[in-house]
Amino acid sequence: MRIDVLTLFPRIFNGPLTESIIKRAVRRGLVKIKIHNLRDFTKDRHRTCDDKPFGGGPGMVMKPDPIFEAVEYVKKLNKVKRPRIILLSPQGQKLNQELLKKFSRRKYLIIICGHYEGVDERVRKYLVTDEVSIGDYITTGGELPATVLIDSVIRLIPDVLGNKDSSILESFQNSLLEYPQYTRPAVYRNMKVPAELLSGNHAVIARWRHNEAIKNTKNKRPDLLSEENLL
Ligand code: SAM
Repeated sequence: MRIDVLTLFPRIFNGPLTESIIKRAVRRGLVKIKIHNLRDFTKDRHRTCDDKPFGGGPGMVMKPDPIFEAVEYVKKLNKVKRPRIILLSPQGQKLNQELLKKFSRRKYLIIICGHYEGVDERVRKYLVTDEVSIGDYITTGGELPATVLIDSVIRLIPDVLGNKDSSILESFQNSLLEYPQYTRPAVYRNMKVPAELLSGNHAVIARWRHNEAIKNTKNKRPDLLSEENLL
């Protein structure tokens, strides 16, 4: 997969995308991430990317021209005609595991990060294919939401996680939260690991995990439970 990110603040991505699993995925060539500074697509001396809103009001709005130019540039560079172009926006479709699975099957994604009061509406209307929100709250800019999206989409790409069962067994993959996890020591300050997990009996462990996943979901996120999960 290749991901091109368009932003006014490229340095925000240093760190989250250069550590741990994402770093390894990039090194192994499973994903290529390129961060572009939108100011490189301006034509004026001051590299202006924002302006006052028409009609008045507080704050600044991101101008459409650098964004359209940048999208055209990366499309040409990667020889793609109709890529998914994702705009991070609190007004978008809420990000969930289903949407991430869909994105993870694409070979190429363009991600636009808003800032200030957001982007000129023509970007959303005529350029963007997916407007995506990470939740009902407002962050300063689209860079952290984009990082959340990139991180969670990359771990769904085949071979990125060491053990291919990891992403299949996780919370939300089957509308259930994951079962509780334990590791050594088996007894810590008198707190014991459930006996089923130490039994060495795969059937017993599988049943315990399924029951605990249902219990967990009932307690924490009853809204996720469906009839089929309870079987
Ligand atoms: N004035 C905008 C509104 O009320 O819809 C909010 C602008 S916000 C301060 C600046 C940028 O942060 C947005 O353009 C978007 O890219 C990003 N952003 C903020 N909250 C977000 C969220 N919950 N999900 C995704 N992106 C978000």
